Amino acid sequence: MRWMLACLWLVLAGCQTQTLPVAASACTLPAPTILEQSGDPHGADGRLLQIWDVANDPVLWSNADPADGAYADFRAKLTRSGEATDPLKLLAASPSQANGLVTANAASWIRPAGCLEKLMVGIQHARRDIFVAPTEFANVVMRSADAARLRIYFFTINQDGIGRMSPLTNPALVDHAQGWNVMLVMHTHAFHPGNALLNGIVSPSIPDADFQYNFAEEAGLEQAWITNGVSTVRIPAAEFGRFQRE
Ligand SMILES: [Zn+2]
Repeated sequence: MRWMLACLWLVLAGCQTQTLPVAASACTLPAPTILEQSGDPHGADGRLLQIWDVANDPVLWSNADPADGAYADFRAKLTRSGEATDPLKLLAASPSQANGLVTANAASWIRPAGCLEKLMVGIQHARRDIFVAPTEFANVVMRSADAARLRIYFFTINQDGIGRMSPLTNPALVDHAQGWNVMLVMHTHAFHPGNALLNGIVSPSIPDADFQYNFAEEAGLEQAWITNGVSTVRIPAAEFGRFQRE
């Protein structure tokens, strides 16, 4: 009788649908649509603005390693460099109000870089080797009103900085006016071996703090992410006002 009850429960629970493992999606993205491109993709003048319009696949928010791209090469070179990657040690080497705040909240804000960050780091590392010329990129990730779709913008000028964010924020504001939510803005603080003040610090600079505060006011930015490719700080908008701004 006990066996029969167990069997009935399993049928009611839909056990038949769970007998075959569901193949997880691979951590990858289709070819993007290029919106603007100029200069040498591997040189100091290479500029790129591109977008992916994709399903909101949970794999992007997982810790899966990329199935393709240059991220594996980035990690191999990082290992060979012997650089410390503990995010708290990197933060401690460059004291600031923001770095102290992130350190105090590390348990809830800092996570290992996930699939999305690792894909993006791989793209930039393929453009300019991070261990030859550390450069930045930035993303805006928009979520459709029904949360089923993502629009992921990627922007870089192949420099150790982004400059003006308007190439990203202008199209994001158009999407926002059409009902899309500004899920997150992400950018990278690349490893700079030998330069403790710039070395993979997952914390906003004062201009970063200014930008994230203002973009939350303007467009409802939900989270600010800063990644070094190994760790990512994910700051919720409710905390933006705690950071020193310009
Ligand atoms: Zn920054």
